[in-house]
Amino acid sequence: MLRAFFISLSKASWAQRSISRLGFARRASRRFVAGETLEEAIRAVEDLNREGLVATLDHLGENTAKAEDAVGAAQEVLELIEAIHLSGVKANVSIKLSQLGINLNEDLCRDLYLKILESARNSGNFIRVDMEDSSLTQKTINMVLSAVRSGYTNTGIVIQAYLRRSCEDIQTLIASNIPVRLCKGAYKEPANIAFATMDEVNRSYDDLAETLMTAGARWIYASADPRWPAFAAFATHDERRIDHIRRLEPALSARREWFEFQMLYGIRRDLQKALTASGYTVRVYVPYGTHWYPYFMRRLAERPANVWFFIKNLFRS
Ligand SMILES: Cc1cc2nc3c(=O)[nH]c(=O)nc-3n(C[C@H](O)[C@H](O)[C@H](O)COP(=O)(O)OP(=O)(O)OC[C@H]3O[C@@H](n4cnc5c(N)ncnc54)[C@H](O)[C@@H]3O)c2cc1C
Repeated sequence: MLRAFFISLSKASWAQRSISRLGFARRASRRFVAGETLEEAIRAVEDLNREGLVATLDHLGENTAKAEDAVGAAQEVLELIEAIHLSGVKANVSIKLSQLGINLNEDLCRDLYLKILESARNSGNFIRVDMEDSSLTQKTINMVLSAVRSGYTNTGIVIQAYLRRSCEDIQTLIASNIPVRLCKGAYKEPANIAFATMDEVNRSYDDLAETLMTAGARWIYASADPRWPAFAAFATHDERRIDHIRRLEPALSARREWFEFQMLYGIRRDLQKALTASGYTVRVYVPYGTHWYPYFMRRLAERPANVWFFIKNLFRS
């Protein structure tokens, strides 16, 4: 109920206009967002790198309404790629296709995505395409498949365990050697296309994780470029899911370079550090920029305790 409420708030433009202006909301968002500027984001990654963590940087933005905004968003990503290169931080980049205008004009979106891939390839970087709501699942898969088929292997995608279709999608992606980040899924989807209970989502996550771990071996030996991240990225803060993956390691004689764990900036830092200390690669998703509102609302939706944290900030103002 609370989850559905915050997810619908994340999409409501009236709420975005009023909440984004509030000082206490901006202050509360800073728990999950590294800052509004590129410089702040790079500094956050330097801090993570010092602790042995790597990062994926996301210049926040989604559902762009005008073509010129999509072009502007792509320009920000090009500047981000340049800044990563110049600063030497250990980070790749995450993008959203709705930010590049996929809902406005697919050709424009494809051109911008390929321009980003070209620039990333020139500076030895990798672009992960985040997965958004189910209206974009097939379009996102098609866009990434077509980029890889035209020679851009420095890109990967995200699979959401809550979608019933994911066990088929993951096979398509594995067959094309496309690196996959596996997450549970952060949007509100109807029961005919997404599992409705947490138990079902968790079971799906464990099954898909096993599929990815098994595929990792073939990919590593087939075509891995050492500059790209591991084939399988397990994006979760759920210790049971993480334990399941760790138990698969000896069972599959898996090697640690086949996979990495990923977590969100500001969430379970203790677990991020503990896994790093145990010798795993942990990549932190570091969002930054002024369009923090929908991302922040999804983080509130995930956990009722975050709402109390939000309210506490209101009373501190
Ligand atoms: C690196 C990364 C990239 C992602 N990319 C995408 C994407 O492209 N598309 C997409 O739909 N979703 C994405 N997600 C979000 C994901 O789908 C989940 O909504 C989110 O990760 C919460 O699920 P969980 O696996 O952590 O498990 P949960 O069962 O939700 O949480 C497990 C535990 O993690 C902690 N936790 C989880 N969320 C929070 C929070 N918001 N605040 C505080 N503690 C929390 C709590 O301790 C909780 O008990 C991404 C997540 C990560 C980590």
